[in-house]
Amino acid sequence: MKKLIVGLAFSFCISLSVCIEVSTSAMAETLSAYSPQTSSDTNPKVSPQISPKTPPQIMPKMTARNGYVEPFKMFDNVYYVGDKWVSSYAVVTSSGLVLIDTLEFPFSQWIPVNLKKLGLADKSVTHLIVTHGHTDHVGGAAYLQNLYGADVIITEKGQKLAIAQAAKSKGESKFLPPNPKSFVQDSSSLMVGYTEFKFYITPGHTAGDLSVDFMVKDRGKEYRAFVVGGHSPNLQNASLAAAFKTSMARIKALAGQSPEVTVNLANHPHKNNLFKNRDRTSLQAGDDAAVNPFVDQADFYRFIQQQESLAVETEIKSN
Ligand SMILES: [Zn+2]
Ligand SMILES: [Zn+2]
Repeated sequence: MKKLIVGLAFSFCISLSVCIEVSTSAMAETLSAYSPQTSSDTNPKVSPQISPKTPPQIMPKMTARNGYVEPFKMFDNVYYVGDKWVSSYAVVTSSGLVLIDTLEFPFSQWIPVNLKKLGLADKSVTHLIVTHGHTDHVGGAAYLQNLYGADVIITEKGQKLAIAQAAKSKGESKFLPPNPKSFVQDSSSLMVGYTEFKFYITPGHTAGDLSVDFMVKDRGKEYRAFVVGGHSPNLQNASLAAAFKTSMARIKALAGQSPEVTVNLANHPHKNNLFKNRDRTSLQAGDDAAVNPFVDQADFYRFIQQQESLAVETEIKSN
């Protein structure tokens, strides 16, 4: 969780630490609220309802101090639209955009702005994949679902957590849980245009972590990318910590299948040296022979190894 530096103001700062601007486009959008569903309701109808109580949406100023990061291209079909702390990836398919994670509200409102900056605003966002139900990943899901009419891909346990986290959210960070049409199942896949997303439920950080496996392209060449649904085992819950160890072993085995995973799309930028690699990309601009710095198989396995060690440490502590 990061610090929220926002407050009420219209295009000016009321103090040095409270400095925001009102998003006129977000203001113009009528925010709809979704009625939360129960976890046993596996195929509810998406029925957006206008909530008269919804406050006007305030967008945090896009400053480095607030954690804003200029969006950038990673692959032919993948762009970074996240912030300094939490990742969000926009995947371009032949039938629109798929977003992986939605940031913490109100920072989620930077995503549509980022898509516009990248020249992707004319593409429809068809799906929102949520890696788990923590606020920093699911916070913008209902907002983006409403904005784009996208389908939300989330596990049943992820949604349960999202509902609980949304109920606790307050003030400018107040958000609503998304309204998925159904819950994603383990070892299922989804075709969006010509892109296939494979899903694995890999519990341990939370009970409903969702890992994502798909192909990315760099100058026409394909690489296999993997998004680990949650990093760091849950220390409060021994059975989840044990599940984490099993999940990491499973991910390692899956990643080893041909073609092996070589791209670590972690859901936090500090877990895959994202900004360091971004800076290497600009150094390599114009060098056609250079390997894309986001293609780094060793980095993926280092990350998994680190996670396995954390799981073992947790196990030792709990014994
Ligand atoms: Zn989390
Ligand atoms: Zn997180």
